[in-house]
Amino acid sequence: MSVQVVSAAAASKVPEVELKDLSPSEAEAQLGLSTAAVSAMAPPAGGVDPETPAPAAERPPAPGPGSGPAAALSPAAGKVPQASAMKRSDPHHQHQRHRDGGEALVSPDGTVTEAPRTVKKQIQFADQKQEFNKRPTKIGRRSLSRSISQSSTDSYSSAASYTDSSDDETSPRDKQQKNSKGSSDFCVKNIKQAEFGRREIEIAEQEMPALMALRKRAQGEKPLAGAKIVGCTHITAQTAVLMETLGALGAQCRWAACNIYSTLNEVAAALAESGFPVFAWKGESEDDFWWCIDRCVNVEGWQPNMILDDGGDLTHWIYKKYPNMFKKIKGIVEESVTGVHRLYQLSKAGKLCVPAMNVNDSVTKQKFDNLYCCRESILDGLKRTTDMMFGGKQVVVCGYGEVGKGCCAALKAMGSIVYVTEIDPICALQACMDGFRLVKLNEVIRQVDIVITCTGNKNVVTREHLDRMKNSCIVCNMGHSNTEIDVASLRTPELTWERVRSQVDHVIWPDGKRIVLLAEGRLLNLSCSTVPTFVLSITATTQALALIELYNAPEGRYKQDVYLLPKKMDEYVASLHLPTFDAHLTELTDEQAKYLGLNKNGPFKPNYYRY
Ligand code: NAD
Repeated sequence: MSVQVVSAAAASKVPEVELKDLSPSEAEAQLGLSTAAVSAMAPPAGGVDPETPAPAAERPPAPGPGSGPAAALSPAAGKVPQASAMKRSDPHHQHQRHRDGGEALVSPDGTVTEAPRTVKKQIQFADQKQEFNKRPTKIGRRSLSRSISQSSTDSYSSAASYTDSSDDETSPRDKQQKNSKGSSDFCVKNIKQAEFGRREIEIAEQEMPALMALRKRAQGEKPLAGAKIVGCTHITAQTAVLMETLGALGAQCRWAACNIYSTLNEVAAALAESGFPVFAWKGESEDDFWWCIDRCVNVEGWQPNMILDDGGDLTHWIYKKYPNMFKKIKGIVEESVTGVHRLYQLSKAGKLCVPAMNVNDSVTKQKFDNLYCCRESILDGLKRTTDMMFGGKQVVVCGYGEVGKGCCAALKAMGSIVYVTEIDPICALQACMDGFRLVKLNEVIRQVDIVITCTGNKNVVTREHLDRMKNSCIVCNMGHSNTEIDVASLRTPELTWERVRSQVDHVIWPDGKRIVLLAEGRLLNLSCSTVPTFVLSITATTQALALIELYNAPEGRYKQDVYLLPKKMDEYVASLHLPTFDAHLTELTDEQAKYLGLNKNGPFKPNYYRY
């Protein structure tokens, strides 16, 4: 069976490639899980398909219409814009969260050899520096367009550290620590916490079946041999499972935290103990934050050739400080809305100098992070902060997108009376059809017990709304970090703020009325509850496959542009999670496949399919 790399977006010029005609084993090969992987992914004879994605500047930076096998079935499809394409151009989403030359190859047995020189890329750095030169300061951080990412400052208490010793005030930077093998190439809070961290990692492994499957399938084969991955993500047990999987697949990793609060200290210690150079601890200062990132990249005798970023800060740092590193970097995998947005901006300006994979807009990530994750964590966040009972409570949910749908479904199931506000008639109609009352916020603001924002917009709940709420109304946000509720308007002399619990404030009006504000309007679930490991497993698997794909892609498949993970791989991520449920997938018959115009092994949907 021949493998053909075709442009997924010939008609729409969307930056995605599709891999056609792959059997499941070929799909694995395609993912670098067999030695045939790289050659299997080679473009058709004659080089790259002439329709290989055009520069992002010329087209919407998201999956587009008219691509994929079924596109032919729908001539009108080419005119249908993708949701994520619309998002990218939506100004309200702008502030959301976030090779060439010889290189050393490390074989599975640790032998280091010189890899052949490959692609010569033109690097243009002068202007990029302009883009990235603004180093954020503690004051006015939010006002800087290139500032430290949202994710680097949002609290993320799912990473609550059980073993933090508050009496240890010494900065990890001032400590001399070694792991049991004598290495001091790390900086964590306390290496002695490694054992606790190892247990956390083992618990996370239970809910991350796909990564564990990748490790098993890759036994003896190292699709990431020679990869030197520098990462900047939340450092949690789930990230540790990802890092150890990357290590098992042959990569060397150096890691920093993308969030100054989110590091699970004992997990960082466990990683350092098992030999990963990790530079992160909970409660870093801003200076520490950049110092940790620098320690990951500024190291003698080691240069990264892949970047895994969450928020764009690491990419930003390398652009700013070490632009020449991009000569050896094969690609960037970016997870956050903010980081992806920055990459599209760079691409549009013609300043992106390596291929980048936008994993944020992968179908599996979007659906599971936004819908299913929020469906579970909204209740958790509310319960932990308020101990409230949901049955019979009146709740208004602003925004009926993926996050809003998840919140509404969970609250409805608990017996709450749920109202929805929407600006989009399609989502509004969906809310009606799902049995929710569509209202304007003003109509219900006096009577509701809980207000939840999930719009990705700003000032959805204004001071006027806050003034009109009833006593004890709970106000929280599940959407765009701290802009949806006008919290700043509550910081006025006539109102009293009373911190009643961690992440819970009572804001008291002169007449005694009080509202319960959760997490000061930041994302409730990330601030006050945990995020299900299984959801993180899906994201982490997507990241691992994107790294494998970019690292193994033959020269020319990806240009200096931002790409979405091929749908085939999205489907593969999902299929790796199915065995958890003893789920039995139906196979198309030849006749059915022909009837639908599909390959029996997928991809099963056109790129414009919305799921
Ligand atoms: P979405 O675009 O699917 O949904 C947002 C909805 O809000 C849209 O339907 C839009 O029409 C509506 N809307 C916009 N302005 C409005 C207004 N003023 N009043 C009422 N409705 C309005 O986006 P989504 O995937 O649901 O994500 C929403 C937000 O949640 C984003 O900021 C996203 O980054 C964030 N998010 C949070 C989590 C989390 O774990 N808390 C997870 C994923 C995404």
